[in-house]
Amino acid sequence: MPQRPKLVLVGQLSSYPWVFEAAVRAGIDLILVPRGDDSAESAERAEAVVELLPLDIDENSEGALAALADRYRREPFDGIMAGNERVVPFVARAARELGLTGLTEQAAAVVRDKRSMRRRLLDAGLGVPGFAVVDVPDAWTDALSLRFPVVVKPANGHSSLGVIRVDDKDDLEQAVARTWKLIETHHLGAADVSAPETGVLVEEYLDGPEVSAESLVHQGRVRVCGISWKGQLVGPYFEETTLRAPAQLPAEILAAIEAEVIGAHHAFGVTEGTTHTELRLVGGVRPVLLEMGARIGGGGFMHHLVHLSSGIDLAAEALRIHIGREPLCWRAESAPVGHVAAYQVPVGDGGRVKQVCGLDSVRDDPRVDYVVQAVGPGALLRPYPDFSGYPVMVISRHTSDAEAEAYRAHLARTLYVEYEEQG
Ligand code: ADP
Ligand code: CA
Repeated sequence: MPQRPKLVLVGQLSSYPWVFEAAVRAGIDLILVPRGDDSAESAERAEAVVELLPLDIDENSEGALAALADRYRREPFDGIMAGNERVVPFVARAARELGLTGLTEQAAAVVRDKRSMRRRLLDAGLGVPGFAVVDVPDAWTDALSLRFPVVVKPANGHSSLGVIRVDDKDDLEQAVARTWKLIETHHLGAADVSAPETGVLVEEYLDGPEVSAESLVHQGRVRVCGISWKGQLVGPYFEETTLRAPAQLPAEILAAIEAEVIGAHHAFGVTEGTTHTELRLVGGVRPVLLEMGARIGGGGFMHHLVHLSSGIDLAAEALRIHIGREPLCWRAESAPVGHVAAYQVPVGDGGRVKQVCGLDSVRDDPRVDYVVQAVGPGALLRPYPDFSGYPVMVISRHTSDAEAEAYRAHLARTLYVEYEEQG
């Protein structure tokens, strides 16, 4: 019997089941490089994982690369895939050195830096808001020439950490200082030499609802597999709570989103794997990219939205691409199964968690496919624009978008974090 393929999955949080379940479906064994904040016990138990390979990528990327190459020499594996945003450059470098399928290091660097994404989009003639790069805190005045409102953000952040809308020029200096401070406390742009130089990006506010597009890309050919609706987020902070798929939009707007997303892959040089792209629909109609992540979205939960709403097994296809195979959906038809809603319980005012209220009835609801609880009693959650994790995520399936929206609204009323009284 031929050996089952093996893939090194780097930094995929083991409490997020989607990619692990996909590996089982794809018949691929996983060598998991656990994320620093993962528990060894949970990592070992994750489905499809046959081996743990702890590597200190953040603090010692050279050592991590050497250890990975050693492991490869002992017994070659068939692929390597990034399980979170921060490790994308490391995984690209490892893939090149080991001769495995992956992004070029240049493309990996581009998509880890919102400044270079903006420049590439501009050069390619794609939609871009006015923007100013602030590489040192004092240079904030360079952004005064933009049309306000603007959005201040870390050049290589995530999860809307340190992302602030500023309506008034008088408030810009303070917002930039605040974002810088968060960049420093969270070590965005880390010690890893392949990590990007840190900095701040200020860009004009794109007024309109937000969507997310999940794609597969194999040998440079891009397929947008699913488009999800994120709704109207107006700020000043951008805590994301809601997604619904498939987005209910006219065919011409969906086509315009696809064109923009495909163009962005080409502009960034992203040729292999799966991507998560966020866009705003300016005036409700004109798609403009916010950013692209060259990895599966939402730690994997975007997979489920795509799988149900389009029938494409996104995470399994991504794994296949990373072991050098063509995705099955390149040749086979897929059929949608239904509508999906994802709800992330907001952190709100933050504080010391007493309990998460309303979970029991959610767990018992037959429409709910997944409940992932990331924090329990005693955890300290900081409010936006800071970020300390999503408390709870619920993913449910529905027969219509209206039902999905109604259920999301129900969760917004009944599922919440209760904090200890401030003493
Ligand atoms: P992050 O990497 O932190 O997710 P994003 O660029 O995606 O950074 O910004 C987070 C959120 O902030 C976006 O999802 C969007 O809602 C909002 N945002 C960011 N930039 C803009 C912009 N130029 N116009 C409108 N909203 C924006
Ligand atoms: Ca984002």
